[in-house]
Amino acid sequence: MKVFKFGGASVKDATGIKNVSEIIEKYADNDTLIVVSATGKTTNALESVVASFFDEDGKALEKLDHIRELHFNICKGLLGESNHSVYSQLNDIIADVKKKLETYRLDSYNYVYDQTVSAGELLSSVILSAYLNEKGIKNSWLDVRDVLRTDETYREGVVDWKETTERSNKILKPLLKESKVVTQGFIGSTPHYSTTTLGREGSDYTAAIFANILDAENQTIWKDVPGVMNGDPRKFQDAVFIDELTYLEAVEMTYYGASVIHPKTIKPIQNKKIPLWVKSFINPEGKGTKVYEASTALKYPPIRVLKENQTLLTFHTKDFSFVPDDTVGELLKAFAKANLKINIIQTGAISLQAVVTNVPEKIAHVIELVEGHFNIKQDDDLTILTIRHYNDEIIAKHLIGKEVIIGQKRASTYQALFKLKKD
Ligand code: ADP
Ligand code: ASP
Ligand code: MG
Repeated sequence: MKVFKFGGASVKDATGIKNVSEIIEKYADNDTLIVVSATGKTTNALESVVASFFDEDGKALEKLDHIRELHFNICKGLLGESNHSVYSQLNDIIADVKKKLETYRLDSYNYVYDQTVSAGELLSSVILSAYLNEKGIKNSWLDVRDVLRTDETYREGVVDWKETTERSNKILKPLLKESKVVTQGFIGSTPHYSTTTLGREGSDYTAAIFANILDAENQTIWKDVPGVMNGDPRKFQDAVFIDELTYLEAVEMTYYGASVIHPKTIKPIQNKKIPLWVKSFINPEGKGTKVYEASTALKYPPIRVLKENQTLLTFHTKDFSFVPDDTVGELLKAFAKANLKINIIQTGAISLQAVVTNVPEKIAHVIELVEGHFNIKQDDDLTILTIRHYNDEIIAKHLIGKEVIIGQKRASTYQALFKLKKD
């Protein structure tokens, strides 16, 4: 069996969904599991509903109606003005979110976020499933929340593998014996049936979880690029296609911020040695990139990754105590407590520098925890450039017009923290 995952860009409108259904018809098997993300920018639109709810600006319901209209229009493009049951399913999903919004307290942002934002994947999967059946591509729609169990960490649900495996065996496997299954990426549920999400862009990860549990032959994530390139083609005009990658290279790239694959995707498929294909939904005949356990060492071009919106935090001890000997542990604990990942770290005698993604509330939390011992300086609007398999020429070429604040060279990875030079 295979697992296919279609992201938001592939199902953004009726034409997109028709294209996806052609890909499914041509390349999927009878027992393929199809994981789908919310259409286009729907997740952002739902985030805006949550913002309106907490800002109490009175626009939340109006914004939900707009989202419903967008989905109705997609359905009209696919199924016409019929009285197909999908329209009432879409209505029910939106009505459910509205009803819940009336009962929430104003103090649990992450909980409300997950109950609301999860609607995007419910809407898109209902439409895709109905359209496939209409076209004679037999499938059943599965509410993934009946199977994918997480803890109660809203917005970053931690998967309960044991429970999810048991439920997949009981619920999902029998469905796949009958036909293809269409389900949602990104969402799950707690043991008490509250909806959770796995973190933004998490649908690739959902697909990998099921590929692992179902021992899939392979997993394909269908994207708007020919495959993995040696840099985001939106940022590097000279980016070239890469035929194949080892799991290790893929995990390194995604760790440093290559957003073409969600970073959590690699582990579940690596653990079962399941090949991952990154293919183009625009040109499905194209070769695509294969991520697998290659038996011989693969040769790579220099691979570039940019991570924007970075902040440099510099901590100076107030009493001249040595950072490496006395206080580094305390500092790292503060970052862990605030759930703020350090992207680059550098220590001196009485100072430590940490580069983090600028999440203001998490940075404020770290500062609050350690400001008694340190003078702290914060520099925003920085970017990290990572180059895997670098050479000096490539580094020089990429640093033109940039003021390097930190540069670090390791065996196969070069990293620079920079800001653009003002002219
Ligand atoms: P999805 O539709 O699954 O959400 P994404 O938009 O998250 O897909 O991922 C595809 C995008 O990833 C591409 O449009 C491209 O801009 C970006 N990207 C970033 N790094 C790379 C890379 N190294 N190779 C190809 N695409 C990349
Ligand atoms: N719809 C979710 C998001 O936009 C999950 C995903 O697309 O993978 O973050
Ligand atoms: Mg996406």
